[in-house]
Amino acid sequence: MAGTFDISLDSLARRSVAPETVGTAGSSAGSSQNGATFFLETFGCQMNDHDSEKVAGVLLSRGYKQVESPDTASLILYNTCSIREKAAQKVFSRLGEYRTKQAAGQVIGVLGCVAQQEGEDIFERAPWVSLVCGSASYRKLPELLAQVEAGNQRVTGLDTDTDETFETPVTRRDNPWRAYLTIIEGCDKACAYCVVPFTRGPERSRASDSVLKEVRELAELGYSEVQLLGQTVNSYADPSSRRMRFSELLLAVADVPGMRRVRFTTSHPRDFGEDIVAALEREPKLCNHVHLPVQSGSTRVLREMVRTYTREEYVEKIAMLRQAKRPIAITTDIIVGFPGETEADFAETLSLLEEVRYDSLFSFKYSPRPNTPSLAMPDAISEEEKSRRLGILQEKQREIQSERNATLVNTKFDVLVSGKSRRENQWSGHTSCHRVVNFTSQERNLLGTYVRVQVIGAGANSLVGEQVT
Ligand code: SAM
Ligand code: SF4
Repeated sequence: MAGTFDISLDSLARRSVAPETVGTAGSSAGSSQNGATFFLETFGCQMNDHDSEKVAGVLLSRGYKQVESPDTASLILYNTCSIREKAAQKVFSRLGEYRTKQAAGQVIGVLGCVAQQEGEDIFERAPWVSLVCGSASYRKLPELLAQVEAGNQRVTGLDTDTDETFETPVTRRDNPWRAYLTIIEGCDKACAYCVVPFTRGPERSRASDSVLKEVRELAELGYSEVQLLGQTVNSYADPSSRRMRFSELLLAVADVPGMRRVRFTTSHPRDFGEDIVAALEREPKLCNHVHLPVQSGSTRVLREMVRTYTREEYVEKIAMLRQAKRPIAITTDIIVGFPGETEADFAETLSLLEEVRYDSLFSFKYSPRPNTPSLAMPDAISEEEKSRRLGILQEKQREIQSERNATLVNTKFDVLVSGKSRRENQWSGHTSCHRVVNFTSQERNLLGTYVRVQVIGAGANSLVGEQVT
């Protein structure tokens, strides 16, 4: 069940927010606490990005000021990712760069999935680290920080059995137009390759009233796009007496005055029902894009992965989306080289790409992870073979994307403008279907606005356009 964050709004009101921050939800004021400063670097997924926004909010409300360089920070924090081995290694090599910082009086903390996975071992590998805190314990962060501030050299927050979500009264958001909002934490699935259930703990959904309250606050602050987050966002189960279904929550969020776009990620195929498609059909503010990770096109591999669906069942979900009354872009995640993946299994993944013709995909080489069942599976695929398969997969997808994007030339899209090029009159932004569009416009102040753009060219990864009235 969602709980409130354990520092009072009163105490927040006496503390400061750095003047350079944008989109801070919640109230806070006051002066910086003894000139304490923090540097926060984030590795990994959007959920980590958003967790960092919340962590930054907590620190700002404790009087810390955010700085751009670890050299000038009194507190250096790494919010880490351990989904693949490379990501985890990166954290330790980064920590290695800071071995002299503790002696210089700086405090170093490791947050997120590597913290949860490695726990107190981090103190052995990097004794200059003073704080190790997994995402399920962020709610305790103020207490943990108080211990660090009191000079405690080894502070940990590593519980995963919490039934609470990390709800903060103050979130320091990085993007002034699109806000992330986590509606479900953790994961109750048990995919054989994945560390998430170990690092983020069991599923906990946030009460619908609390979600909607924050969406209303975001709209008041000027946000027009919200992205609802969860490892399996569509497994959302409202813990309040309203018992809102995920599809009902989507519609309620879209109904908040001021919100123009609502996104959600990541959906698990097993829990993706017709009611979600019906909501997308009914409400144009719900973006016409669904990220539906398949992982493999082979039912045999899917079974080994414990994905809980067959290729045929997955393809039925795709058919449901394709039959919707408005076109819906579909993207996915694929892992190549899962233990025992044969050439024939891989060929089935390629044929799935042909069958579905995804608008985009994220592809990964299988990476063995600690504690996961697939670690003990026989017939590991060599790194060289994984790279070969990844290359073939990406090339095929590139062709598909180029062809799909080429069909969009001469069509028009509403684009939320989020970037301005150094080149004169050049802007960029996203369509509702989550395509990047680079376009020309003679207008001056377009950032954060929605403009109508006609597509005049297309590449595999983006569209080129010009503003039309
Ligand atoms: N919950 C989402 C789902 O069920 O699809 C995905 C969350 S995970 C953070 C993002 C992606 O990382 C997964 O979809 C999968 O493709 C990839 N991934 C997870 N574990 C992996 C591993 N051990 N090796 C390679 N890729 C992995
Ligand atoms: Fe990992 Fe599977 Fe949960 Fe996604 S659904 S987070 S891949 S265990």
